[in-house]
Amino acid sequence: MRLSKSFVPTLKETPNEAVVTSHRLMLRAGMIKMLSAGIYSFLPLGYRVIRKISEIIREEMNAIGGQEFHFPGLNPKEIWEQTGRVEAFGDTLFHIKNREYVLAPTHEEIVASTAKNHIQSYKDLPQIWYQIQTKYRNETRPRSGVIRGRQFLMKDAYTLDATAEGLDKGYMLHDKAYRNIFDRCGLDYFVVGASSGTMGGSGSEEFMVKSDAGEDNVAHCTECDYAANLEVATSNVDSKKRDDKSEEVKEISTPNVKTINELCEFLKTRLPDGQVDETQCAKSRVYIADEKPVLVLMLGNEEVNEVKLQKELGGNVRPAHPEELIEITGAEAGSIGPIGFQGRIIADNRLKDANNLYSGANKNDFHLGGIDLKRDVKGIEYFDLRFVSSGEECPNCNNKLDVFTAIELGHIFKLGTKYSEALGATFLDEDGNEKPIIMGSYGIGVERLMACYIEQHNDENGIIWDKTLAPFQVHLMGLNMKNENVVKTADSIYEKLTSENIEVLYDDRIDAQAGYKFKEADLLGMPIQVIVGNKKLNENKVELKLRATGERLDVELGSVIEKVKEFI
Ligand code: ATP
Ligand code: MG
Repeated sequence: MRLSKSFVPTLKETPNEAVVTSHRLMLRAGMIKMLSAGIYSFLPLGYRVIRKISEIIREEMNAIGGQEFHFPGLNPKEIWEQTGRVEAFGDTLFHIKNREYVLAPTHEEIVASTAKNHIQSYKDLPQIWYQIQTKYRNETRPRSGVIRGRQFLMKDAYTLDATAEGLDKGYMLHDKAYRNIFDRCGLDYFVVGASSGTMGGSGSEEFMVKSDAGEDNVAHCTECDYAANLEVATSNVDSKKRDDKSEEVKEISTPNVKTINELCEFLKTRLPDGQVDETQCAKSRVYIADEKPVLVLMLGNEEVNEVKLQKELGGNVRPAHPEELIEITGAEAGSIGPIGFQGRIIADNRLKDANNLYSGANKNDFHLGGIDLKRDVKGIEYFDLRFVSSGEECPNCNNKLDVFTAIELGHIFKLGTKYSEALGATFLDEDGNEKPIIMGSYGIGVERLMACYIEQHNDENGIIWDKTLAPFQVHLMGLNMKNENVVKTADSIYEKLTSENIEVLYDDRIDAQAGYKFKEADLLGMPIQVIVGNKKLNENKVELKLRATGERLDVELGSVIEKVKEFI
């Protein structure tokens, strides 16, 4: 591709709206252009990468027996109502006004309705259906460029099975295919959430990359492959040691003391030895679980992990409103505690049987000291209700956990029969019984994958492509295109490489300065740069530069093609 005739609108300056590295570089390299918040055009250079990723995905999906579809993005709303997902998606679902249509954010409904009536017998199963298609989600905070768009390209796949064993098999095939795809694309990723192991269970795995641009918090072991979303991650952390001697419960007037830190500060000035820290305090939070109050106690400043709490309590769980707090405990947040609390009391495992604790007195501006959970709080139950933090011990091995933000690249999920039941997608099993088709769903964000690659492969000068995803293998530069010899040589290298099926971006622009061309070549990041300049030509040589290492070498004119092929 001749740059002089191409649309590659590179930018010298970093656009203000771009904070995340990949977003900045994709804009600067003229690969994407924003149309409106969360809506991007892919320009020719960027779209070449999308096509390469799509091709790798196709190869791997076809290898596991996937059949490629193209389902419509415009869907009758009615289908989405049948599965309850108009409500479940809420504001994220785009609605078409005047007509009862929605723009599909995913395609479980359309897959199930396509299977309905056509899949009739267990003999028609299993099936693996996939597509690489545009999705629409009215994300509340589209940001980080194409990492979170309102319109984005997803490879979504669906397995249709007759048995739980079949689903397990389809799920494992996708697990392997996804690993192949991400390996081939050169991504450094890890997998969160192990599959449940039980047949047809609700197994689900997320393929993640570590990134400051991520919105998911994860805990990842520095040694073994333990990785979990922070909402469910566990660690081997010590619980508070019980003191030998339990003190008596005593009331302390604590005017205006609300937080654990304020309590510690206050007590330091009041206690004879002035020694109090947060681990001597139990923080209280009141939740309403199925209409009943539950007091949740955490050690010191630890926050309640509401996902874990929900799992333990089941049903409908929410924090109590301020008015409810007074009604239930007689006190405001900041003065609530276990003694005298009317209702179920649960505590994080780290507080197991702890004594000599400070907590609220259920009376505004008062706290209690000397609380012994074993002695004073009958019926208290203990669960893991906390968030793990960096440096804690991995639950699988003795090494340390690292907690960081990450981006979800892909997701594989055993759906079960939710959608097939709602839409009546059934089949007859071997005994002639009608059953709902068992489904799995599997997604990869194609544009997000490209952005994640760039997040992991760049330096201060620009993007660093390796040959698999690079828009072009070679960036050929004619330095002084007013010089006939340079033009002749560069043209002939361009033609020869192209005829060898090597993709070449040829900077044949006459007006651009050499320095500008070098900078741009580094920004765009093709793996091999071939530089044709007057000086070297006089020695019958051109220069090759490898983008990844910066290594430069002079190559005889006669062996340029060979050398380039060697590097590819
Ligand atoms: P996230 O938690 O990041 O919103 P999700 O759980 O909503 O992701 P899925 O519904 O599982 O994502 O979609 C499958 C894949 O599609 C994701 O793993 C991700 O790679 C991609 N994806 C999801 N939402 C977006 C988006 N708004 N923009 C770009 N890619 C997306
Ligand atoms: Mg989402």
